[in-house]
Amino acid sequence: MTIQLQKPKYVYFGGRVCLWNEAVFHISSEAVVRGLNVFEGLKGYWQPDGSFGIVAMQRHYQRLHRSAKILHIPFEMSFDEFESAHHDLLQLLYEPSRDMWVRATLYVEEGHWGEGSKSNLVLTAYHQPKGQPAPVDTGVSAWRRASDLALPCRVKASTNYQVARLVKIEGRDRGYPEMILLNQWDRVAEAIGSCLLMVRDGRVITPPPWEGALESITVDIIADLCKSMGIPFERRPVERTELLIADELAFVGTLNEITPIRSLDGKLMPEAPIVNALAERYHNAAIGVDPHPSVDLSLIPPLSVGRNRIIELLPSRGTGSLNFNLS
Ligand code: PMP
Repeated sequence: MTIQLQKPKYVYFGGRVCLWNEAVFHISSEAVVRGLNVFEGLKGYWQPDGSFGIVAMQRHYQRLHRSAKILHIPFEMSFDEFESAHHDLLQLLYEPSRDMWVRATLYVEEGHWGEGSKSNLVLTAYHQPKGQPAPVDTGVSAWRRASDLALPCRVKASTNYQVARLVKIEGRDRGYPEMILLNQWDRVAEAIGSCLLMVRDGRVITPPPWEGALESITVDIIADLCKSMGIPFERRPVERTELLIADELAFVGTLNEITPIRSLDGKLMPEAPIVNALAERYHNAAIGVDPHPSVDLSLIPPLSVGRNRIIELLPSRGTGSLNFNLS
């Protein structure tokens, strides 16, 4: 089932795990009136020893802080609290047959135009099929990334995804799950929910954040993977016409991992040996069969241990009204 259609039983809201229907904001809150929030998308994978590993938790926490800082949103939670919140929720929701994606959203629930702002970290988690993503068809959108002074791409705020939503609708009409966006200078920025990777003459190239791309955690990891695999890696502007002569193309991001692009605007791409090698290396590190120091994992201990921990923890967080049927 796709993320959008899932309605998990529990969410993390207001400092505790609660039922899906209990997580509500007032219509007068800035979260609703101005769509004010910043967020992260994190992915967790089952590991060979039965533990569950969330990729790059520390880096997601830091980027959430940076986004919050730019938008004057207070975010006082410590890293340990942030990590435990993820563990508490995932232990209630995960299933052995599927991996998970977590949306960590910091909503502004009190305050007015930046005065008296109070935030609330909300975690919602969704099941994801195991395995590497399959290659996709794509195209270049007619929509554009906003400039740094209009809607800074560096801020991972939901309001930044209004254009992304239009592109998603455009892509759906054209049969593409993900699409490429150009920037204000007609060069490649990134995609709806991923960055773009291009291979030319054995070099892996990606547009830097100042070209309108998010400061991607996966791109940073890929830079390190390339280094350890002896593949040249470069951040530089990418022109529209380079897409037409690229040897390989891929989308990269936490959710999509490294997804090879099979065709661009109806034109088939050649084989993608470098993209495929990187995709496999990344995935094997994330699922713990071939660890890499750059793919660091926040580990929830194997199931039996985790379940005991939930039973200890949850009643003390004021969630005694829930029916914890953990058998
Ligand atoms: N660009 C956009 C617009 C995104 O939403 C994402 C997903 N977070 C990315 C790029 C990739 O970033 P990351 O590698 O940190 O997931």
